[in-house]
Amino acid sequence: MQEIIRRLLAELGENPAREGLIDTPKRVEKALKFLTSGYTADIDAVLNNALFTVDYNEMVIVKDIDFYSLCEHHLLPFFGRCHIAYIPQGRVIGLSKIPRIVEIFARRLQIQERMTSEIGETIKRAIDPLGVAVVLEATHLCMAMRGVEKQNSFAITSAMLGGFQNDARTRMEFLELIRRPDLQPRASQCHSTPPASSA
Ligand SMILES: [Zn+2]
Repeated sequence: MQEIIRRLLAELGENPAREGLIDTPKRVEKALKFLTSGYTADIDAVLNNALFTVDYNEMVIVKDIDFYSLCEHHLLPFFGRCHIAYIPQGRVIGLSKIPRIVEIFARRLQIQERMTSEIGETIKRAIDPLGVAVVLEATHLCMAMRGVEKQNSFAITSAMLGGFQNDARTRMEFLELIRRPDLQPRASQCHSTPPASSA
């Protein structure tokens, strides 16, 4: 990988041998491997020992999960927050594992829409809940930095499965809860746009 990055630097008109760039190929390789480490992560191993049988069937919400990913079209970052809810059907996922699931799908070359549905499907497969909802809010540097469609560099995607798809009240309850300012210690103006009702 380092040789390719050295060639890329030369193609960009740089001198890969100058002091500031001499170790760049090594650093870029290390960074890219880390940022795409989700390909080799084993979701089943992550969830192993973290699935519990419980008598609880109310909505579980984990909100404001920060994530950083790379858009597969430009290899530039998109990043933001993920909100997840599910309604258990006898089984729950250890709360700390929810951000881990997000991280595994974020650390790949992604598009926001696919990442949203992959997270939802993974939770569905793991515990077969009555419903799963995933909302991703992200800024895309490929749009923001290149100055194209700047007004759209912030995107919201959602995946609504099961009860969140079939029952408008359940869906509204979730959307209301993730937008409540008092539950949003790090609220930003970005939250003023309501997420799409289904994906
Ligand atoms: Zn892009």
